[in-house]
Amino acid sequence: MKRTDGFGLRSLFLSLAAFLIAAIPVFGDANDREVTKLADGVYAIQHTRRGAVSGNTTVIIGDREVFVVDSTHQPSLAREDIAQIRQWTNKPVGYLLNTHFHDDHHSGNKTYLDTFPLLTIIAHEETKKDMDLIEPGNIERGPTHLAAIISAFKQGKDQQGQPLSEDDKKQVQELLPGLEQQLTDLKTMVYQPPTLTFSDRLTIDIGNREVQVKHLGRGNTPGDAIVFLPKEKILVAGDLLVHPIPYTYDGYPTEWIETLQKIAQLDPQTIVPGHGPIFHDKTYLYLMQDLLKSAVDQVRARIRQIGFPGSHSVDDVKGSVDLTPFKTKFAGDDKDLQAEFDDMTAHLVKIAFNEAAQR
Ligand SMILES: [Zn+2]
Repeated sequence: MKRTDGFGLRSLFLSLAAFLIAAIPVFGDANDREVTKLADGVYAIQHTRRGAVSGNTTVIIGDREVFVVDSTHQPSLAREDIAQIRQWTNKPVGYLLNTHFHDDHHSGNKTYLDTFPLLTIIAHEETKKDMDLIEPGNIERGPTHLAAIISAFKQGKDQQGQPLSEDDKKQVQELLPGLEQQLTDLKTMVYQPPTLTFSDRLTIDIGNREVQVKHLGRGNTPGDAIVFLPKEKILVAGDLLVHPIPYTYDGYPTEWIETLQKIAQLDPQTIVPGHGPIFHDKTYLYLMQDLLKSAVDQVRARIRQIGFPGSHSVDDVKGSVDLTPFKTKFAGDDKDLQAEFDDMTAHLVKIAFNEAAQR
């Protein structure tokens, strides 16, 4: 995910997100993190800085070594997570899994590898392909883009050169220290690809603890990986599940529904989403499935009316799809979240149409 949760300058940064995949600002107190113990030796870390976009990190400690799921959006966050892991155990991190190719889940790879030289970094083969394609350019462009934004902010403008409102100016003042910190982080970033790829599944024993890595099908990306601990019935879902507003800027809605069904069939008691708090039941999973189903069904109903989608565009479809019955279920009464919901559903309709057109 690359959103900016609960952030007043949302529109500013969503437009920023469109061209600056690698460098969405993260700022705030360095200790803004929420740790949840899921079982003995299993922890989830939410990176909860105001405006932070970093994915959750899950730490699984075995008798011999440690398995980590996702390495955050910034090397500095990964360093803080490693310091936290050191407080729990002196065993080395032997495995790091990247759940998918979005950079808020793997930007700390090099930091982990530098700290644990024998580390194996795992990803689905499609995830590595996408990372190899996209990430080096992101890292190269990131500092220049962010420096330009910081410079514009300091002049009281947004990145398009438009003057900021007084309210936005106040918020920007609060953001600037964090942005400068992010810039320092970005300048030192080095792309570290996965060192081991898989296509279907991997089962790893880290010492009296079995960790299952599975690709259950496409959903959020072509190479989504989940982690399942069969004994503890803990499942780490990556951005197949993002709370409170799903991430649907790319993806495969029809297959996503099936992939979520396969997650449900594993019957996890605890689910760690890619972003947001830990789930202890499947309510949110089913809500996400219902949203995807509704979008796909409505898009297909419209295509039955207009014919071959290849000769149409999403503009011929979007007016016939109504996902507002889901709005308060995801966004409650929060106006910012509702705006994010609207943005997300517009993209969901687009990817549902694209999927139908490409068949
Ligand atoms: Zn994410």
